Amino acid sequence: MAKESGKNRYHLFDTAQDDAVKVQRESLEAIRYALDHHQFVLYYQPKVNMKIGTVVGVEALIRWQHPERGLLSPIEFLPVIENHTMMIEIGEWVIDTALTQIGQWQAMALDLPVSTSVNIAAVQLMQPGFIQTLTDLLAAHPNVEPRYLELEMLETSALEDVNHVSIIMNDCMTLGVHFALDDFGTGYSSLTYLRRLPASLIKIDQSFVKDMLSNIDDFAIVEGVIALAKSFKRDVIAEGVETVEHGTALLQLGCELAQGYGIARPMPACDIPAWMNNWKPDASWQ
Ligand code: C2E
Ligand code: MG
Ligand code: MG
Ligand code: MG
Repeated sequence: MAKESGKNRYHLFDTAQDDAVKVQRESLEAIRYALDHHQFVLYYQPKVNMKIGTVVGVEALIRWQHPERGLLSPIEFLPVIENHTMMIEIGEWVIDTALTQIGQWQAMALDLPVSTSVNIAAVQLMQPGFIQTLTDLLAAHPNVEPRYLELEMLETSALEDVNHVSIIMNDCMTLGVHFALDDFGTGYSSLTYLRRLPASLIKIDQSFVKDMLSNIDDFAIVEGVIALAKSFKRDVIAEGVETVEHGTALLQLGCELAQGYGIARPMPACDIPAWMNNWKPDASWQ
């Protein structure tokens, strides 16, 4: 009897595991299909200088235009492929698409956005052929100067192997592209690490910015990251700027660059030119 229930339990566990494997396989197949059938799109979120009132760039953010489920956010599908070679493939598609878009904006004589950033997954950055891939992608868009492309890397992926990551970053920079450290403050990085990572821009994680006006610890973190960026001579941008008051507080702390729903939500590429023509900084910021 005991043996039998033990067997049953084993069987149950086995079934659950089988189900998980099946779901994973189906998700991977659906993502593969989506990539082959052009269901991914890039949205772009503006980044501005609040003080001088200019648009400094845009960040490309992937979306899945799902035929039945509508527009899906990256958190709904990127985690499935986080450590999968498909992340590398999608990553290449993202860079290629962003470069095409930069070329189109330039052809429209849009002198802005100044730079377009794309998010780079750790697995993508660490793949042996990344520099070659990037070289090839840039070569495929000879009309786009590499300085218009910025790569956003999570602070946490930089910490996986600082030596290796800093070598890759330096190699990319010789191609002319710049780096930003994304979600800064969430990864417990030491000052020594920051010194060794040649990122020109530090992006303060939105979780700290969101609550900086109500939580003194979050305010202190935002203040600290701004001071840190300044002493290391890096640019600093606040993510998750949702209100005018956030912007005002950030300006008082010396952070002029901002990105967030309070300025603009991510939008299709075709909406960027009109948005740029119409945007004005809040009067209290100048
Ligand atoms: P991220 O790079 O930190 O991008 C910022 C995220 O915050 C975006 O979410 C953006 O829509 C959202 N956001 C912007 N302003 C505000 C605000 O004021 N309030 C709030 N609550 N949220 C704001 P999204 O587009 O869903 O992307 C989530 C994450 O997925 C990104 O975080 C990035 O880590 C990743 N991701 C997006 N696109 C790509 C991609 O093409 N490749 C890779 N590897 N990762 C991507
Ligand atoms: Mg980002
Ligand atoms: Mg971020
Ligand atoms: Mg994030």
